[in-house]
Amino acid sequence: MTDLLRRAAAILTVDLGALVANWTQLRDRVAPAECSAVVKADAYGLGVAHAVPALRAAGCRTFFVAQFEEALAVRAAAPDVRVLSLGGLPQGSESAFLDSGVWPVLNHLGEIAAWRAFAKAQGRALPAAIHLDTGMNRLGLGPDELDALADHPEWLDGIDLKYWMTHLACADDVESPMSAQQLGRFRTALARLPAAPASFANSSGIFHGPSFHFDLARPGCALYGVNPTPHTANPMQGVIRLDARILQVRRIDAPMTVGYSAAHRVNGPTTIATIGVGYADGYLRSLSGRGHVYADGIAAPIVGRVSMDLITVDVTGLPDHAVHPGALLELIGPNRPVDTVAAEAGTIGYEVLTSLGPRYHRVYRNAGSAP
Ligand SMILES: *Cc1c(COP(=O)(O)O)cnc(C)c1O
Repeated sequence: MTDLLRRAAAILTVDLGALVANWTQLRDRVAPAECSAVVKADAYGLGVAHAVPALRAAGCRTFFVAQFEEALAVRAAAPDVRVLSLGGLPQGSESAFLDSGVWPVLNHLGEIAAWRAFAKAQGRALPAAIHLDTGMNRLGLGPDELDALADHPEWLDGIDLKYWMTHLACADDVESPMSAQQLGRFRTALARLPAAPASFANSSGIFHGPSFHFDLARPGCALYGVNPTPHTANPMQGVIRLDARILQVRRIDAPMTVGYSAAHRVNGPTTIATIGVGYADGYLRSLSGRGHVYADGIAAPIVGRVSMDLITVDVTGLPDHAVHPGALLELIGPNRPVDTVAAEAGTIGYEVLTSLGPRYHRVYRNAGSAP
């Protein structure tokens, strides 16, 4: 064990082999469509510098990010892949996109006009995707803009259109009629527009079946182990585990309170373990008095408030050998999956992952396990 590992208050282990296995499963599921990887927000908190080379080695050739600077990080990790930036074409960024080879996803007619004018000035067609809004009312061409573009296909002259794309609002809810509605709207729009490949499904959308796959799927969360089918068992492998060391053990006999605001009251003999993880590490404060950690086959409840750097856990039920300074407790892992922690925190797995803090000692396993 390295000194760093021995000193670390908490260790975040990322299993790149599981990441690759998840991508491979989705690739096979969407074939013959292509499977990209959405790696925005530093690969959902796991680390683009490690995730992108592992996915590239497994055969992934197309990556999506939210912002241009993130695209540069993907470029640095894998110079020869396609990178698309979902956040559009910020004003004045045309040359930066051209020079870096990043493809903008154009979200409104203004961006289409700007990219077209820039391409004209360059004297050649330039690559881009165009986002159609089929019901999110967030990014992409709305119905009026779609009508205008369908009437003026020449507005696309000079644009090397790689994809028409849209994004599902309720893909994780199999009961919702919204996904089928969006599919219908997307098909209708495509029929009115010049032909180009199409991209539709996020992680959950992939599980709606082949009619949702089109030419390119865009999974994010499922790659990182979040369940894309919340109504049924998780088909994906867990990718991360988070273990934290016990800093101190306190045995309490008299009735007393624990932590800030005296939020937890102890009545009988109790053993409290304090661990060095807090909301500054992205361990959400909403887990106060609600979350659990795991050791030796037993879940132990978080008691009192999650503070900035510390959590207190009632370890009375754990065996003595699991409870001593330096012992590791599982905060996220096979016994506390990301989705379970998210449910206890009142949020979704995405937020748990993208909150993972910079203080964790990170260990990347199975970097070379790509097929
Ligand atoms: C984030 C995002 C994705 C990936 O979504 P998941 O639900 O994480 O699979 C796909 N497409 C767009 C446009 C996105 O913003």
